[in-house]
Amino acid sequence: MRGIAAAGAYVPRFRLPAEELASAWGTSHASGIRRKAVPAVDEDALTMAVEAAERALSSDAVDRDELTLTAVATTTPPAEEGELLPRLVRALALPKSVETATVGGHTAAGAEALSRALDAEGPALVVVADCPEGDPAEGDHPLGAGAAAFVVDDDPSAPVTGTAWHTEETPGVRFRERGGEEVDSLGVTTYQRNAVREAVTDAVSSLPVDPADVDAAAVHQPDGRFPYRATADLPVSNEAVSAGTVVDRIGDAGAATVPLGLLAALDDADAALDGDAESDANAESDTDAESDADDAGDVENEPNGAGPSIAAFFGGGTAVAVAVEGGLAVEGIADLDGGATIDYVSYLRERGYVVDGEVAGGGAHVSLPNWRRSLDQRYRLVAGVCPECGSVSFPPEGACQSCRSRVEFTEFEAPRTGTVRALTVIGQGGAPPEFAELQQRDGAYAVAIVELDADAGRVRLPAQITDADPGDVAVGDEVRATVRRIYEQEGVPRYGVKFEPTA
Ligand SMILES: [Zn+2]
Repeated sequence: MRGIAAAGAYVPRFRLPAEELASAWGTSHASGIRRKAVPAVDEDALTMAVEAAERALSSDAVDRDELTLTAVATTTPPAEEGELLPRLVRALALPKSVETATVGGHTAAGAEALSRALDAEGPALVVVADCPEGDPAEGDHPLGAGAAAFVVDDDPSAPVTGTAWHTEETPGVRFRERGGEEVDSLGVTTYQRNAVREAVTDAVSSLPVDPADVDAAAVHQPDGRFPYRATADLPVSNEAVSAGTVVDRIGDAGAATVPLGLLAALDDADAALDGDAESDANAESDTDAESDADDAGDVENEPNGAGPSIAAFFGGGTAVAVAVEGGLAVEGIADLDGGATIDYVSYLRERGYVVDGEVAGGGAHVSLPNWRRSLDQRYRLVAGVCPECGSVSFPPEGACQSCRSRVEFTEFEAPRTGTVRALTVIGQGGAPPEFAELQQRDGAYAVAIVELDADAGRVRLPAQITDADPGDVAVGDEVRATVRRIYEQEGVPRYGVKFEPTA
């Protein structure tokens, strides 16, 4: 049987509290959402996908060289037409022979990607990443961001025991006009709720599990109340719905919300530490007592208990229900409850709703062929050992930086962790033109010389520091690499490694 062998979650660091929205607009159109995740100015669906996938691939259960399929789902690709998957494959150093699939256009896209992986042979990677946008006055209020990654394989720790589909035209429930960036709906909420409820009820009822036994249900969650209403005709308990609901903490992350809810439900990192969890899990009637005891004072999501978990996707008129047994440790799932609070004005800047003035062109120009040649360095920190003197050069090209010999370097991937050795803050007006937009949206930023934790020799490189106030970073701080959007030139977004503090 196939199912989920490894998984990773990623949620951007910034959080906008509901009170900030309410005080800015007088009311919040984000029912049941306490705070929502806000992607930083240098984040998009691709960078979030890379982070979530790296976390899933860090599992011992996976060898990325053996992946046969990579499927990505998002409703907000960085470009309407462009290279989403090649960038992901390159940034993750996956085999170039990997079969690829891109799914988009509706919030159930993750279910289609998952289905492809379940039908495939061999280990398959599914990444769902999304950061939808809407009209800041209303439609945007509930919209958040996040990414979930699954490695699907045979004999997994979380087998998928069934999937069920229900397709019915439901015009106007959620849509985006051609060329439009903003998610919209006709706002006929009773009609919406009924349409989704009927589709979800039918799909879930077709699963080979009794809904009354379900421990956790990640149900289509455009807001915090919707999943309870969508399951009103099913014998799924409120506790189960709560265990699969994450929208209250990260906002409506489009196609990624239900996958993240499913991962929250499946995460058994706590249970794995508790030697009794497995025996408890066999005593079906014990579910409530067990979760209460295990989880006192913790967040809503209960560790996986006795019954199956289900996910109920809805999007574009299609409901897809998926039943999963068991559980697994989900790298990064703690992001759901982490984050740093920002105020509404900072939020508008990060989202690009407010950018003061136009950016003049010019500045340092790196041609696309040159950029492409350096991708192994920009994504994977590939350095080289000199065969003559044994010292390390980064980048591994030209003459050896130590003995000056023209050599063929022996390449290796440097570790993605390191230490800040030198630091400078680029203040307002000091940024080169290609970084001016980043600065206008994100303020001053730090550039560091980072020394990687490489055993082979010293690898130092200049890089931007992200996800930290420049004033909070100091020489000696430990940092880790994260793939981010560097800047856009000639209309092409360019990605590469930045570093974020680990403390
Ligand atoms: Zn040398």
